[in-house]
Amino acid sequence: MKFETEAIRTQIERTKFLEHSSPMYLTSSFVFEDAEDMRASFAEEKEHNIYSRYSNPNVSEFVDKVCKMENADAGFAFASGMAAVFSTFAALLEHGDHIVSAKSIFGSTHGLFTQVFPKWNIKTDYFDIDDLNSIDKLVTSNTKVIYAESPTNPGVDVLDLEALGKKAKEHGLLLIIDNCFASPYLQQPITFGADLVIHSGTKLIDGQGRVLAGITVGNAELVDKIYRFSRISGPSLSPFNAWVLSKSLETLAIRVDRHCENALKVAKFLEKNPKIAWVKYPFLKSHPNYEVAKRQMKAGGCVVAFELEGGLDAGRQFINAIQVLSLTANLGDSRSIVTHPASTTHSKLTPEERHDAGISDGMVRISVGLENIDDIIADINQALG
Ligand SMILES: *Cc1c(COP(=O)(O)O)cnc(C)c1O
Repeated sequence: MKFETEAIRTQIERTKFLEHSSPMYLTSSFVFEDAEDMRASFAEEKEHNIYSRYSNPNVSEFVDKVCKMENADAGFAFASGMAAVFSTFAALLEHGDHIVSAKSIFGSTHGLFTQVFPKWNIKTDYFDIDDLNSIDKLVTSNTKVIYAESPTNPGVDVLDLEALGKKAKEHGLLLIIDNCFASPYLQQPITFGADLVIHSGTKLIDGQGRVLAGITVGNAELVDKIYRFSRISGPSLSPFNAWVLSKSLETLAIRVDRHCENALKVAKFLEKNPKIAWVKYPFLKSHPNYEVAKRQMKAGGCVVAFELEGGLDAGRQFINAIQVLSLTANLGDSRSIVTHPASTTHSKLTPEERHDAGISDGMVRISVGLENIDDIIADINQALG
């Protein structure tokens, strides 16, 4: 079945009450018929929910949906996007392993690579997103993973996923893609050779600013390792949040279509405005990787990045003049959001690291929401003064 149908019709088994919409299974554990049932369940001789740290029907429904959307064999859902990123690496890497990562990555992921993993002697080197051949020089005998996001946060740069898939194969490495900015609807990295795909469910998947969540999907053998790591260490998604997200996925396609339509209009509006130094959006012809974006994405996503003439001061003034859009740290929400990455999400990076990640001090990021486009543009226009 097609994407939208899977998103709506993938459902756990009905109970005897024949409910139409899936009920919520708010239970920490599950009962057994007898001693033999209990033994066989723990021995994994049969499929049986045991404890909600391991599995839960609502979580399974959410995971099944994302797997179908991403063409993945298996998945595991987490309490946040960062729990997904951390647990995926922690489950798969050994002491002394090496990561080759894109320079432009989410701030907290960068924090894991620079502050946490070195404790286990796991080192990371960074490749320039404009030169994928630079990966070749970074790969050592200890390298296990190539890691990237596309589009990137917050610079909305686009990486060629097919080329990355080829690089990973050539070097015999795992390719892990954070697909948060595209959502499972706009691009499916597994079809380009990714072994695992990570999402922050907090963003477009929930899309309404209510819950935190994360998920990793992909190759079943790798996911099994992640599952075994996670059932011991406990980063699992709560059934309540899984229930919320399963419902959110039913409207993902229609929401993301509108996000993209609105974002493209905002990007085109900004591009024409003389007060804007530059604007970046994957589906603007002026985007340096427009052709790649067109090839691998269904539409450009919800995030537009730009810089005002006048740099940092002008950016600050703009943010202070905004009246309708929210000043908050989320994205992919039905509410449009304005942020200033250099002073917020990426403030922990050094100025040089920020420069490498494509973040200038005056850069503003708008996550374009689902309000009427006329109201969104009117607010941006009045804030430009
Ligand atoms: C937000 C985000 C994360 C982290 O997700 P949380 O749910 O906030 O933990 C990871 N990667 C990207 C690209 C993000 O935007």
